[in-house]
Amino acid sequence: MYDVWKNVLAEIEQKVSKANFSTWFSDLSLLSIENGVVTIGVKNSFLIKQLNTRYLEIIKSALINNGVEVKDIAFELSAKKKSAIRSREITHEDVSAKEHIKEVRTKIKEQSFSNYENGLNLKYTLNNFVIGSNNDLAVSAAKSIIDAPGTRYNPFFLYGGPGLGKTHLVQAIGNELLRRNPKLKILYTPISHFYSDFVESIQAGKGKEFYRKFQKLDVLIIDDIQLIMGKEKSQEEFFNIFNDLYQLNKQIIITSDRLPSQIKTLDERLASRLTWAGAFDLQLPKFEDKCAILKSKAEFMGAEIEDEAIEYIAENVNTNIRDLEGEFSKILLMSEVRGITPLELINNGAVSVQKSSKLRSVSAKNIVEKVAKYYHLSVKEMCGKSRVANIKTARQVAMFLLSSELSMSTPKIAEEVGVKDHTTVMHGIKKINSDLKMNFLLRDQLEEIKEAIYG
Ligand code: ADP
Ligand code: MG
Repeated sequence: MYDVWKNVLAEIEQKVSKANFSTWFSDLSLLSIENGVVTIGVKNSFLIKQLNTRYLEIIKSALINNGVEVKDIAFELSAKKKSAIRSREITHEDVSAKEHIKEVRTKIKEQSFSNYENGLNLKYTLNNFVIGSNNDLAVSAAKSIIDAPGTRYNPFFLYGGPGLGKTHLVQAIGNELLRRNPKLKILYTPISHFYSDFVESIQAGKGKEFYRKFQKLDVLIIDDIQLIMGKEKSQEEFFNIFNDLYQLNKQIIITSDRLPSQIKTLDERLASRLTWAGAFDLQLPKFEDKCAILKSKAEFMGAEIEDEAIEYIAENVNTNIRDLEGEFSKILLMSEVRGITPLELINNGAVSVQKSSKLRSVSAKNIVEKVAKYYHLSVKEMCGKSRVANIKTARQVAMFLLSSELSMSTPKIAEEVGVKDHTTVMHGIKKINSDLKMNFLLRDQLEEIKEAIYG
């Protein structure tokens, strides 16, 4: 029976994506075939529903193709029976079958646990990182690092607010590098772990060993470096490690929720190193980006959710991708529990996503004033007709911020900044948007202005 099942699974594996296979099929087992009724063991009830609605035909035809007569297929929640079958499988003489089981098991294990040694968690991949206008530059830099670590973009500095995908992207780089070259020595560590490991090893008199561990690396990934604030000793240690690796052309990858210049107590030398080469940011996803992320997540989970429901969530969650995923899971779970579709649930008013749009309230006037002040201009000067370069830039920055922070329409913005034509505003916003892609100075300035606005 086992071999039949193995072949059935192999056939299904050809037909569905890798991700779907490991989510829906890797843990199924064949419990019995009696009078044409094929009973399949499943580990949880959520799986049963999805298998029944989405994959029944695929399973059925794979069984038939393997000579099984199928009148009906039943799924059974049966951890016990399953493990009994499993242990029988393991004593099976067929060595390759054993290997197969081992493989599936490690795969499952790997998926749910991070690898203690290198800190990488296999659930973060580039395949499941949706590319959008909020992250396309950072992703293309990530890809060039994967192709040739330690050459371009070194150090690679990835910044952006919480929940926008920093950890996911840098972990995905690590995983992909390792997949291509399993010999690479890679370490992913949140800076807080670096700090506690460092303190521990000093206390144990093993400072040198700590240092050596890092010296051997090919790729060092440090997450959330902003949390290094105030930890002078470990900054010093980190700086030394950083320099050594850098000089050996080893790839260094660092994330932060803000720019180096905004990490108040960051060692100046370190701050300047970090902005040397590749600083990239992850921005808030736009509506289309949010829909794409949710669609891909639904597909991965094999969850049924209407486009309108996805659009409703995307429209209403404006904080970050972590929150977006949170609302999405909440709605899927509730729809499962109540036995109605996500959209019905939403239309019934049974769930409401909290309107989280820019809780920080600011006025247009406030933005205009802060921008003018930042560029040492009066509001009158900035909102006048001057075409002097820095005045024009200031005006365009104001347009950009009125649009990005308050979602104001272009005619309204035109009024605020004293221009006649709203196409001038459209042009201004576009200009800043495109400048931001390559102009790091401008990015810094915008961050500083925002800090002044919200601070
Ligand atoms: P950060 O480290 O910036 O706080 P994370 O990397 O932890 O954010 O991302 C938060 C959540 O959003 C994670 O579950 C991550 O998988 C998901 N996520 C972020 N960006 C994307 C994306 N582009 N595509 C798919 N999932 C994403
Ligand atoms: Mg993170």
